[in-house]
Amino acid sequence: MSEEKLSSKISGFYKLPVEERIEFVKKFAGLTEDEASLFSKSLDIETADKMIENVLGTFDLPIGVAVNFLINGRDYIIPMAIEESSVVAAASNAAKIARVKGGFKAEASEPLMIGQIQLLNIEDTEGAVKKIMDHKKEILDVANAQDKILVSLGGGAKDLEIRILDSPLGKMIVTHLIVDVRDAMGANAVNTMVEALAPIFEDLTGGKVRLKILSNLADKRLARAKAVFDKETIGGEKVVDAFLESYTLATIDPYRAATHNKGIMNGIDAVVIATGNDWRAIEAGAHAYAARNGRYTSLTKYYKNEDGDLVGEIELPLALGIVGGAGNIHPKAVLCKKILGVKTSRELAEIIASLGLAQNFAALLALSTVGIQKGHMSLHAKNIAVMAGAKGDEIDLVADKLVEEGNIKLDRAKEILEEIRNN
Ligand code: NAD
Repeated sequence: MSEEKLSSKISGFYKLPVEERIEFVKKFAGLTEDEASLFSKSLDIETADKMIENVLGTFDLPIGVAVNFLINGRDYIIPMAIEESSVVAAASNAAKIARVKGGFKAEASEPLMIGQIQLLNIEDTEGAVKKIMDHKKEILDVANAQDKILVSLGGGAKDLEIRILDSPLGKMIVTHLIVDVRDAMGANAVNTMVEALAPIFEDLTGGKVRLKILSNLADKRLARAKAVFDKETIGGEKVVDAFLESYTLATIDPYRAATHNKGIMNGIDAVVIATGNDWRAIEAGAHAYAARNGRYTSLTKYYKNEDGDLVGEIELPLALGIVGGAGNIHPKAVLCKKILGVKTSRELAEIIASLGLAQNFAALLALSTVGIQKGHMSLHAKNIAVMAGAKGDEIDLVADKLVEEGNIKLDRAKEILEEIRNN
């Protein structure tokens, strides 16, 4: 194992025993003994009981860390909570390749969220729009009166945008309240504001407000990441060309794009969950954004630069919080944010966009070369070994034999287990 001080670049991390991995993360992130001990603890039942209704217990996922990430010149190890094998390894490997040409460059826009107010039964559409816009300042003031903390931090309601939509029920005026939510995900903050505005919109226009709710198509809160993947490191010009051929299908075919973007979300969701964020919101935003031009397409873009290296880019909405929601309540989410060392929601978005790009790059590289199954197989074999009843050391013994024989089947795993136990 080689290690540079406070670098996230480490080889052979996966070979270390769990305790040594925790020790590395503890040192990297400056965790206390108590914090480090949290990895092996489940969410306590009292906390769980306050989070949702009708609680019976908790549901655990494995949590691991992706290593090797260099983003905007800073080293990160990235916690990921996920049940699918190979995702963490693939992200770490992609990050290692990206480091060769300087890692990821990422940026996130201002944290602007959209709250929608749907206005119906309007006779004079133009007149109603004018009334709303004439009272913009008053409307923004009422919205901002709902969240003094947000305003004190420089956030709050900033603008109004109006859309007029034709519908089977007639014209609807849909007003977007644009809210800077600073370091929150912002759904509660925005929903409180738009609900408070509903009576004002009815008084001003004589219409009826129906919906008043956040939009998850957070297209004013975008994160972008870019990386150059060195052509020699990935196997030369032929591999770059094969990669671009694979990628192109995702740009033209929604059947492929759905799977391509699912691979991106493998990584993104895992960090979103680990940091206590709302992954349904992130999923909804990502897929709606992928279809923004009328046809569902890839969230990433790849091309060759003048040196023949592969350049990858990603852009998607990322409505993430480092305050509020479950992220402040779940002790492991608090811990994961400490491991990341994030100071703002924008920084978290930059990390997660970079990870999404890494994940997508790793999947496409495997698909364009050895195929996806090779990497999946050894962890898959371990799952099959567990299904066959293997425990402790038996798991690796059975899994290794399954991989060696190239026959990763449950019935064979049961036979091998029996042989081991008989010996
Ligand atoms: P929240 O209300 O828990 O916290 C946000 C509040 O924290 C802000 O309004 C502000 O008053 C305060 N705050 C303190 N320090 C802050 C800082 N530095 N930056 C910003 N705000 C700060 O949470 P939220 O982010 O408004 O809402 C997120 C929750 O809403 C998530 O749990 C999500 O699951 C849920 N939700 C989502 C949807 C949706 O996605 N459609 C709808 C409803 C609820």
